[in-house]
Amino acid sequence: MSAIRHALTTKREDDFAQWYQEVISEAEMAEESGVRGCMVIKPWGYGIWERMQRLMDDRIKEAGVSNCYFPLFIPLSYFAKEAEHVDGFAKEMAVVTHHRLVSDGKGGLTPDPEAKLEEPLIVRPTSETVIGSAMSRWVQSWRDLPLMTNQWANVVRWEMRTRMFLRTSEFLWQEGHTAHADRQEAMEETLRALEMYRDFAETELAMPVIAGEKPENERFPGAVATYSIEAMMQDGKALQAGTSHYLGTGFAKAAGITYQDREGTQQLCHTTSWGTSTRMIGGLIMTHGDDDGLRVPPMVAPHQIVILPMLRDKPEDAELLAYCEELRRSLSARYALGEKLRVLLDKRPGKATQKRWGWVKKGVPLILEIGGRDAANGQITVVRRDRLWNTEGKVNFQAMSQEAFLGIAAGELEDLQGALYAEALAKRDANITKIDSMEELNAFFSETKRYPGWAEVVWSRPTGDELEDVVKQLKSLKLTMRNTPLRSDPVEGTCLFTGQPAVERIYVARAY
Ligand code: AMP
Repeated sequence: MSAIRHALTTKREDDFAQWYQEVISEAEMAEESGVRGCMVIKPWGYGIWERMQRLMDDRIKEAGVSNCYFPLFIPLSYFAKEAEHVDGFAKEMAVVTHHRLVSDGKGGLTPDPEAKLEEPLIVRPTSETVIGSAMSRWVQSWRDLPLMTNQWANVVRWEMRTRMFLRTSEFLWQEGHTAHADRQEAMEETLRALEMYRDFAETELAMPVIAGEKPENERFPGAVATYSIEAMMQDGKALQAGTSHYLGTGFAKAAGITYQDREGTQQLCHTTSWGTSTRMIGGLIMTHGDDDGLRVPPMVAPHQIVILPMLRDKPEDAELLAYCEELRRSLSARYALGEKLRVLLDKRPGKATQKRWGWVKKGVPLILEIGGRDAANGQITVVRRDRLWNTEGKVNFQAMSQEAFLGIAAGELEDLQGALYAEALAKRDANITKIDSMEELNAFFSETKRYPGWAEVVWSRPTGDELEDVVKQLKSLKLTMRNTPLRSDPVEGTCLFTGQPAVERIYVARAY
């Protein structure tokens, strides 16, 4: 077997962080913008986001939630109404204080002191406060409930340590905001959104996740309970890929979201909020990427099939292109995974092999290469992105008739979607280890272990100072608690942090 010459220079095994950056640049997903923590999302990255958006939006609407849009700027006083919320976000809020610039007398511009805003405006880091203010107008009686809204928007959080897609200062997301008559209904909605995220991550992104509750110290500022989906990246680190919050009546009290119940009494609403962001793209890369670049699950691939004609800059090219165009049309009329196939005929000039490696790095599920002789004989050759190499270390092209390919294309895409999930699930499950003591935990995450994965422990769910103490102990090992899984059998044994009887399971890991 000859050594494979992979498409990327950095291997995951050698330097995972560098590999991640290389995928993003080689797959042409995003680039730096000149403003720290803000990125330019390029067509391939944005195309994946649009697919995610479309599929998530369908699910959101299916649940009876309506989209709306709220302003980018939020008056500071809106935040001040909810003490915990403003405290939580204060460290990372961008503030607008002026609405005009004037000459500074040295050839530059400076904020005009005359144009100082009476009240500073916050560039939204999240929209509970402004949506809450609208809800207080929209909800009057029990008949107006539940009120279910969502917005697709950009938000700004001045993050100190940024990384493309995973943690950016400006990011794109959806934020669901709902108001309900009572705790039970609001809690049901919180868990419905969480389950929607779990199923979306596993079905559409082929990314296995664990849905569970965050410990108290990791709660969203102002929330009564925070739930998350957590995914394991190939370096064993955890990624919080989406969150759903039960907000109790705190935000309703702050914004005056009240309703008259059936008996005519004024009651406070119980609210929820839930969000997923462009971070999911980072999760996709670190779940499915390999040493040749990204592998995009067919459900979110902007192009599921790319047809590459071997153009020779000769008159015969016309016939070849006509053959490829006909094939593109036939394929595009077919269905896979519940939708029409998305097929691109790549007619750009240039060498087919070079273009092939471009698409390999972008992670297109099926790449077809077609030469003049293939066209004359009704043949094609195809390579499936998750089976890129054969046992001889050569690109694993399969030759077949056009007819045969038309027959198998949809099935191959469906199979590839499932194969990526199965591969990720097997990796994840093989890297979760049950740990019983602090010594074991220490050893498990020792420096000699490169990618230790996650520790599954049982704990007594301490609160207050006792919890602070646990957080501190873990911090010294660069660890965090991820979540307590909703789907879990009863636990027994003692908490490795407090020595008290354990009440639930919790995952401990290094995290992004
Ligand atoms: P939150 O409103 O804090 O619950 O955030 C909702 C979701 O947005 C989180 O679960 C993350 O997946 C994502 N998210 C939070 N902060 C960032 C960030 N700085 N960059 C990208 N995504 C983020």
